[in-house]
Amino acid sequence: MPSDSELKKKLTAEEYRVTQQCGTEPPFSGSLLHVKGTGKFVCKVCGNMLFDSKTKFDSGTGWPSFYDAIPRSVTFKTDTSIIVPRTEVLCAKCGSHLGHVFGDGPQPTGKRYCINSVSLDFKDEKK
Ligand SMILES: [Zn+2]
Repeated sequence: MPSDSELKKKLTAEEYRVTQQCGTEPPFSGSLLHVKGTGKFVCKVCGNMLFDSKTKFDSGTGWPSFYDAIPRSVTFKTDTSIIVPRTEVLCAKCGSHLGHVFGDGPQPTGKRYCINSVSLDFKDEKK
């Protein structure tokens, strides 16, 4: 895995803040929010495949939202930085912060992965 100083060179200040310091991008700011193509969303830091475009839905929150993650691509951690604990979603390969998962998503999983656009890259299968 790249060192902290390598990551600082590779990532923008905002990407570094979100992925390495558990930050959150401003809602409706993300470039991947309205991506409609078919493909995979991968980790910005290490390229690990995280989400399939088939599971993306418009949650209205202003962050890219998915109802499922690619099996074994992410890990979870309880985030107690606010009063009501949330479940943080991390890249299983490099440990970068991706976002949070909530229990109010659509079927078939009922989950809502609320993910920062700057933590992701999109690989369009048609390109
Ligand atoms: Zn990663």
